Amino acid sequence: MSPGFRLPSAVVAAVLRCRGCGGLNNYGGIRAGKVARCGLCRVALDVSGKLQGIREEELARTVEGSPVPVVLLVWDPADPVCRTVAAALERISARNLGAMVAVAVDVEVHPEFPRSQRIETLPTFVLYRAQAEAGRFAGVLEETPLARWILAGEPPVTVH
Ligand SMILES: [Zn+2]
Repeated sequence: MSPGFRLPSAVVAAVLRCRGCGGLNNYGGIRAGKVARCGLCRVALDVSGKLQGIREEELARTVEGSPVPVVLLVWDPADPVCRTVAAALERISARNLGAMVAVAVDVEVHPEFPRSQRIETLPTFVLYRAQAEAGRFAGVLEETPLARWILAGEPPVTVH
């Protein structure tokens, strides 16, 4: 078991997804420097903003339980383009910790996932707001429009 993460001082309200059990934790008002642990399984919560791998059967629970936007990246970590957009999404997630939940499906590990979700292009982002799918974006999306889409619901414009 790794030592507990500590919340950065800037965090005042946070919905954090547990890497251990997938449960969503509401840490509104937590004091800086306090180790945050999952209320369900007591695993120390990851406050790095890093993408969390998710299985198809876990996705509905996360989407339906989340009061904040959930963004799913369907990607192949071996593909440099996918790695680039994943890095951008992690930066957004780290800056907006608690205001969004970022999860990812690695198609090498879950090759059946794209077909079951009717996804034909990698990378593909799927955004969920208010417990339902709000939109998809296939291809490269730059960091600023990606952040605006996730956090403000501004639909991204495809640039040719
Ligand atoms: Zn947990």
